[in-house]
Amino acid sequence: MWATGGDIVKYVTTAKDITDVARVFHFLSEAKGRPTIGLAMGPTGMISRLLSPKFGGYLTFGALSKGQESAPGQPTVQDLIEVYRVKSMDRETVVCGVVGKPVYHSKGPILHNRGFAELNLNYVYVPFLVDDFAHFMSVYSESDFRGFSVTIPYKEDALRLCGDKVEFVAKGIGAVNTVIREKDGELKGYNTDCEGALSAIEDGLRHSGLATNSESPLKDKLFVVIGAGGAGKALAYGAKERHARVAVANRNYERAKTLAESVGAEAIELEKLADFRPETGMILANSTSIGMEPEVTKSPISKDALSAYSLVFDAVYTPKETQLLKDAIEIGAVDVSGEEMFYRQAFAQFKYFTGVPAPERAMRDALSSPPVAHKGTLPTRTPPPRTFPVSAQCSIGMFNGRGLRVSQFVCAYPFKNGWSFSHSAHFGMLMERSQVPSGSFALRY
Ligand code: NAP
Repeated sequence: MWATGGDIVKYVTTAKDITDVARVFHFLSEAKGRPTIGLAMGPTGMISRLLSPKFGGYLTFGALSKGQESAPGQPTVQDLIEVYRVKSMDRETVVCGVVGKPVYHSKGPILHNRGFAELNLNYVYVPFLVDDFAHFMSVYSESDFRGFSVTIPYKEDALRLCGDKVEFVAKGIGAVNTVIREKDGELKGYNTDCEGALSAIEDGLRHSGLATNSESPLKDKLFVVIGAGGAGKALAYGAKERHARVAVANRNYERAKTLAESVGAEAIELEKLADFRPETGMILANSTSIGMEPEVTKSPISKDALSAYSLVFDAVYTPKETQLLKDAIEIGAVDVSGEEMFYRQAFAQFKYFTGVPAPERAMRDALSSPPVAHKGTLPTRTPPPRTFPVSAQCSIGMFNGRGLRVSQFVCAYPFKNGWSFSHSAHFGMLMERSQVPSGSFALRY
């Protein structure tokens, strides 16, 4: 393609797995100063668009607004500029991100990137949509890929991968939610969910005057955890560490028993939770996904059964005020939201990523007042019809507004009254002979 004499070479493929994108990054790195665009389409290709400047890509594409994407997996221009700061990204930029499946609902990028911007750190935080955790970590093994938030379903995979380099609390819980690549290349695992949730609950008790001792206000309290997954383990372990008496209720009772045994707690069948009120003033912590969007009217326990609790915590943070918390407020219990846990576990991760304390105020503001969407403006001028010279080896030359020739490796062939392009046709789009794609534009950084 370089040999065709194009001023700019453009290579676009579709990622089937996030590790495919590494090949696009290598291709960009091989460009040796020749203007080159390299992108991978599709959901798992997203990082090729977000990290293009780091690998020397000539430009990346952004949609003017959501719904106006001209290719699958395209972020908006506003996110590229304001959240991912592509204009200041360079080869030195340190990459962190959240690894999970699904992952694009995560608010981590908004939070961490605002923190990096606030402290003027040359870091970026991106979503990694991953199918195989160990394979992903082995492919993105450069020291620049420094810190990873680990979410569903990889917290136990992360524990295994870090081997004996797992910090005490994470080992006790049996789940790693933070992986750091150290200077010697070794991976070290931590768990910040535990401290994030427990410190939020402790502060909830302190601020409402329910704390009666200076050690931990949870000491000797009866702490009921609903759920025995990753978050449930962190809550049960953390409460036990603070000398609370712990009970675990879970839909799958065997899991409840296993967790209860591992931390020295009591197991309760979920159906019996409504009648479980051995005393008043108990603490309730929901760690199931019940009540999460879109099923926002659901709650893991009836309002009547809440009267035995003085504080109710919900790990669910979308929405911020769940049905469970609404019920807790109505019966006069102290409510602590999952959003508070989310902030606190993220602040701890930020410190692991960067070595400096998180700018908490700025990061909280990032979620409470996210960037306002600007109204995009599409070009109003209809481009003149043009003929794409289609060469034998299926590359086409397009002329952009500045008269630069872009060599784009797409297969173009006559179809009905116009032209079909291999990559476009693949997604069911047809481009007329006289049409050029609209709804996105090349973003030169
Ligand atoms: P997980 O490991 O998959 O565990 C899910 C738990 O929810 C299991 O105990 C499961 O019970 C239970 N569950 C799921 N659907 C249920 C239903 N319909 N009825 C009854 N029980 C149900 O997930 P996780 O990592 O622990 O996360 C759980 C929740 O916590 C999610 O909503 C997540 O967003 C939230 N979370 C929040 C934060 C934060 O920072 N605020 C951090 C981590 C997690 P079974 O064992 O019977 O399947």
